[in-house]
Amino acid sequence: MSDSLISRQAHALLRKFYGYDSFRPGQLEIIEALASGRDAVVLMPTGGGKSMCYQMPALLAEGCAVVVSPLIALMDDQVAALRANGIPAAALHSNLSDAESRTILAKLAEGCVKLLYVSPERLLLDIERWRGVVDISLFAIDEAHCISQWGHDFRPVYTELSRIKDVFPDKPVIALTATADRLTRDDIAAQLRLRNPLKFTGSFDRPNISLTVMPNPGKAGRIRAIERLIDRYPDDSGVVYCLSRTAAEKMTAELVARGLRAVCYHAGMSAEARARSQRAFLDGDATVVCATVAFGMGIDKSNIRWVVHNNLSPNIEAYYQEVGRAGRDGLPAEAVMFYSLSDLHTLRAFADESGRQLVNREKLDRMLRYVQSPVCRRRTLLSYFSEIYDHDCGNCDICNNPPRRFDGTVEAQKALSAVIRCGERVGAYTLADILVGYARGDIRAAGFDRIKTFGAGRDIPLKKWNEYISQMIQYGLFEIAYDEANHLKVTSYGREVVAGRASIQLSDVTQTPTKAAPKKTKSALPPSENLLTRLKKLRREIAAKEGFPPYLIFSDATLADMSARRPRTLTQFADVFGVGEKKCARFGPQFLEEINKFLRE
Ligand code: ADP
Ligand code: ZN
Repeated sequence: MSDSLISRQAHALLRKFYGYDSFRPGQLEIIEALASGRDAVVLMPTGGGKSMCYQMPALLAEGCAVVVSPLIALMDDQVAALRANGIPAAALHSNLSDAESRTILAKLAEGCVKLLYVSPERLLLDIERWRGVVDISLFAIDEAHCISQWGHDFRPVYTELSRIKDVFPDKPVIALTATADRLTRDDIAAQLRLRNPLKFTGSFDRPNISLTVMPNPGKAGRIRAIERLIDRYPDDSGVVYCLSRTAAEKMTAELVARGLRAVCYHAGMSAEARARSQRAFLDGDATVVCATVAFGMGIDKSNIRWVVHNNLSPNIEAYYQEVGRAGRDGLPAEAVMFYSLSDLHTLRAFADESGRQLVNREKLDRMLRYVQSPVCRRRTLLSYFSEIYDHDCGNCDICNNPPRRFDGTVEAQKALSAVIRCGERVGAYTLADILVGYARGDIRAAGFDRIKTFGAGRDIPLKKWNEYISQMIQYGLFEIAYDEANHLKVTSYGREVVAGRASIQLSDVTQTPTKAAPKKTKSALPPSENLLTRLKKLRREIAAKEGFPPYLIFSDATLADMSARRPRTLTQFADVFGVGEKKCARFGPQFLEEINKFLRE
């Protein structure tokens, strides 16, 4: 199929099944690559629209797409969402009875399933048996960072997924993740043995989320900050991420005692209690959920206005993914992180017990650098994901309250040139030693004392150099190669600075300002509209009657568009954002009736 034909068909299917008019950046390119048999590695932030990248190729092709996902809860959710849109999908995982599995396998062999979600264990068990029996269109590997030992969530079973290419060498494979540094990303393609894959990296910038870090807030300070957030967004909701189950419970109790509508969510609760919390949160009955990391996977709630981290996170990947759950509708949102030194002790212990001490310690170290850095938070985060972001964001605590800075271009050039002259074979601490001219034994042995920049930074004390180099890493001049003894590599942005085409500012402040009160932002949300409120109420009623979560009926964005357009006929209704054919027929009449009633009144 030619690209233009694929594009035409894809747009028609997009309207029919999903009710959307256009693809998001990257989606069509990826869809075309898969449809023409090419592999792909896709990095998009949470909510970026990764699922579409394999669902649409599945719809375009004959046969069934196999989607590997490690999260059973998420699988069932995805299957329910697809079926609600009229797309035949199924999930195979260990929670099914033998009879249920057999039914699905029979349907599969008949060719009645377009998308099959499986756990990696299950795939590895079944894949040989599928050869010649099941018509497979493609393989999609979700949460693909789990395959890399450089990732923050390595799962050994994932490494066996390379067998896919042995059994089905001709089928395209797409690997997707919302979180991976460059090293992990490259590792994914290598491990899965992808052939010349299309590599797509979406922007990770979420400019609408303000970023704040509060060192040593104390118990009262934490509660006060949370109360302020609730005051600012009285009609919306937020999440407080805690490190442990007990901490989540305690925080819930604290907030409830203050009359706030808070619920708790963690893996230690019964499935029933968890479902109750989640429902209260999704329905808007609870304004706050205090949760461990278990919460939020696959939750498509677009009006989470704020996310609080009650502690330091174990790594930047996890932190930023959780931050990303706020403000998915693009309206202003806030992320606040509390941290204290005791978090560091706890997390170090976690890292040491993880069985992957070195990697996890390095990841924690990067997190610590982030909270202590005087550099714009967004610059730091985006440079961690190798995205060039060459200005301050103006929407973080550092930007709101910047430390005194000086032009550090010359210092940066000295450091960059030293790294280049050493063949990019030095780590941050050795670099500082070289700059001050400390001829340690190993430095002499490597010949680094003979480079031109040896001792070029003698006028600045060693301790300062260490701080400056740390800031240069945050700005994205260097990348740390964790797979090469943590050596520094000069990025393309760093080369711009060496060449004098970009400048850089450094600061002498190591600690972030302690009073990191977020700027008072007025809620930019429109006043709650009557019709919208009624549509939400109707959605809740239908959800209760049909027994599935409200957001599976229509998303908040769809209801907002509906209340703005006020469709009077089914044809008009079908034009609403996110209304596909199936949902139009199924829910259209009820919503139209409600709208007409509202208009008559
Ligand atoms: P991810 O898996 O990247 O976190 P999802 O695939 O769940 O994100 O998509 C997030 C939301 O964006 C979903 O509600 C999805 O329906 C919606 N979405 C995806 N593609 C489009 C599109 N082209 N137009 C409008 N909405 C889209
Ligand atoms: Zn900033």
